[in-house]
Formats: sequence, C-alpha cells, structure tokens
Amino acid sequence: MPSGSVVMKFGGSCLRSTDGIRKIVAITSREKRVALVVSALAGVTDSIVREITGRLSEKSIEAFTKQLAARHLQMLGVFCSGEMLERYSNDVRKTVAGFSRILYGVYYTGELTQRMKALLMSFGERLSARVIAGALESSGMRVRVFDADTLPLLTDNNYGNGNALLPMTKKMAHDKLNAAVEEGTIPVVTGFFGTNREGHVTLLGRNGTDYSASIVAYAMGASRLVIWKDVDGFLTADPSYVGRAKLIAELSYGEASELSYFGANVLHPKAVEPAEEGKIRISIRNIEGPSTGTLVTSSRKKAVGVVKSVSCLKNLSIVRVYVSGGGFQAGTISEISGFLGRAGVNIMSATTSQTCIAFLVLNSDLPTAVSALRESMNRGIEKIESERRVALMCVVGEGLGTTKGIAARVFTAISACGVNVGMMSAGASRAAYHFTVKMEDLDRAMNAVHDVFFGD
Ligand code: ASP
Ligand code: MG
Repeated sequence: MPSGSVVMKFGGSCLRSTDGIRKIVAITSREKRVALVVSALAGVTDSIVREITGRLSEKSIEAFTKQLAARHLQMLGVFCSGEMLERYSNDVRKTVAGFSRILYGVYYTGELTQRMKALLMSFGERLSARVIAGALESSGMRVRVFDADTLPLLTDNNYGNGNALLPMTKKMAHDKLNAAVEEGTIPVVTGFFGTNREGHVTLLGRNGTDYSASIVAYAMGASRLVIWKDVDGFLTADPSYVGRAKLIAELSYGEASELSYFGANVLHPKAVEPAEEGKIRISIRNIEGPSTGTLVTSSRKKAVGVVKSVSCLKNLSIVRVYVSGGGFQAGTISEISGFLGRAGVNIMSATTSQTCIAFLVLNSDLPTAVSALRESMNRGIEKIESERRVALMCVVGEGLGTTKGIAARVFTAISACGVNVGMMSAGASRAAYHFTVKMEDLDRAMNAVHDVFFGD
C-alpha cells in the first residue's frame, strides 16, 4: 500500500549557501510525511575527486580534511547552537576523521582502487546530510540521518555507476524509513551512493542523487517524488541553443527518460525507472522561484502538436564498420557490440544496412572503439570509417510513432535551413526519434525544428 508520503531531493545547486539550506528548511516544514534525499554541498564531490586523484601527501591530506570539516562546521554553526551544535559537530568531525583515515590508507599504499574511490567519494553526502539534519532539527523538526550504505540501498557490483536492486532494497529499507515517518521523524538520506551485497560502497554515477531519491521513493512506496533544482523543469528545447524555449508542464515517464538520456540536463537518466515502477509522480521544481515546474506521470497524453521537446547531445562520433561478403552473418551485431561493451564504450545509437553497421559513440570513446574493433574482429571487416564532430538531435513526444506527418515536418524544416541529416533512428521508442547533424549545423537545426512546433 502506498503510504502517501513524499520524497524530496535537494541537489548540490540548492546547497551552495546557508540561504539555500534555509529554503530547504522552509519547504520541508510545509510537508507532513516526508523524507529527504540530499547531495553533497555544491563543489564538494569535485573537490574530493581532485584531492584523491592528485598528488597526495600528509600535508595535502591534513589541509584538505581541515578545510572540509571547517566548511560543514561553519554551516552548522549558522543554524545550531548549544547541545545540538555540539552533537552535530561531533558527528561531522567523526565523519571527517573516517574519511581522513581512508585517505591516509590510499597515500601509504599508493593504491586507489575503484572500490576505495567510491567509498571516498561518498563522504560529501555523508557530511551534507548531517548539516541539513542539524538545520531541520534546530527549527523544531524531528530528524534522523540514514547513510545509504547502512539502509542499505543495494546495487550491483558496478562501483562507479551502480544499478539499484529495487525489490531487495525495498525489502530492507521500507519498514525502517516508514517507521520513522510514522512517528513524525524526517529521514534525511544520503544521495549518490549505495552498497553492493558484500557491503562495499558503490556510486550511482555523477549527479546520481536523483536516482537515489527515486530508489528511496520506490522503497518507501511513496506517492510523490519532488526533485528540487535551480531550474524550472524540462523545456521545449535546450535553452543554450533556443532562447525561446518554454517550460513543459507535463511529460510521460517515457518522454522524460528519452529527454534525460538524450541531452536534457534536468533529471538523471536512470531516475525515471524506479518511480515508474512504483507509479510515483515526479515533480521537478525550482527552489528559487514560484514556477509550477514539470510533472512526470504515467499519463501518455499527446500534445496538440505531438512533439513536446527537442533535445541534443553534442560531441559525438559515428563509427561505420563495413563487413565483406554482403549481408550480416548471424551474430555479427552482437559480436561487435560485445567488443565495444568490453572495451567500456557506450553505444549511444546504432543503425544497420546490408553491408555496414554504424554506431554513435562519445568523441572521447572514439579511439578506444576503433582500436577495439580492429583488434578483436575476425568476421572480415573491410574497413572502419569514423566521423567526428557530430551532434544528435532528439525529437520527443508521445504519439510520434503513430502520428502521420511529424517526421515530414521535422525533416522539411531541417532541409529548409540547408542542413544535412546523417544517421537516423526511429521506431525503437514510440515517443522519440533521433538523428545526427554536423556540430556546426546544430544551432540552426535546433532552432528550425523548434520553430516548426513551437513558433508563434
Ligand atoms: N554529489 C554527487 C555529484 O556531484 C551526486 C549528486 O550531486 O547528485 O556527482
Ligand atoms: Mg552534484
């Protein structure tokens, strides 16, 4: 049974200053049955990464941990006093001391494994959760900090980019979190990390707290998930290309995940899945403003013009693999994608013809992709071609796959502004299709397509 509770996520952009924390306190105090999931204070995760991957020394560790403690203690001091300040400060100091010991371990052994890195990077959230809990308690709320690895929020063994084990996490965390809420306590859960089944900390990917919050909402059986940010929500296009882009009031789960995957930097791409699974409404809200934000639900309402947004991904490359003998032998595609997968190359999109298979990859993955294919293929590759400086445009809207004339409008607009379409892919999702253009044509193409559907 859904408990009717709400999970609210506050990201680093809401955690820049004491003013941001004051807003969090005010927003939280308006809710009755609520749990928070929080990111590290703005910039903290990046500073940890710089420290652990830079040249460590006893001096650097001392200076870094001192400054880390000072920043969090100073914030606490703004909100708490007396016994409460003492208690939370001790907790922060203890947490920093734990971090420091692990960091010395890395320094003395000269070894930084993926597992160690994940553990160290989890400390930004452990610290911010304590500061936020202190601020909430000082204004009269009952709170309890839950570190996600002791909850536990369970994931697979991917240390940098873990995937949640949803039913198991629910089994472990549902009662703990709901019991707290029942007795009027606000759980403050650390975002960004979880643990694998052996108890080692895993990360959920950079900016993964949206995903954490969605997992927590699923585990609790919450009815709402609110993602608080410093932007209004999803827009009809990437505003860095299309100045006239407008806020979208409502999206389906499918539309939101396509947009997140293909370039809209509003929600973590994996955050939709747990919420959808648990039938939980997601609202994106701006902590700075009165905007109503974007609501993401199971409703697959078609927009009047069908298209709801045009997003884009920059800095991609196309790899074309030509195979001799005409036509593919069974298993060729899986073999090629297997080699790329093992080399750590993520395939953004793929299309095939009789003699060629084309992959879209990040520019930064191109050298690895080409050498992995050259070395590992034994199926008679004739040649491999690559094309750099490509962008992917994605047109999203429920009903795209079943409404006549939408593709014609998109591609007429593209050709009218003199832009050539490279690779194209439609039909895999009913709510989206995407195609590539050259990087230098992206601005023109984005505005042309946006104007067709949203121009006045
Ligand atoms: N603090 C983590 C990061 O910066 C997670 C998050 O912000 O969501 O990637
Ligand atoms: Mg962050």
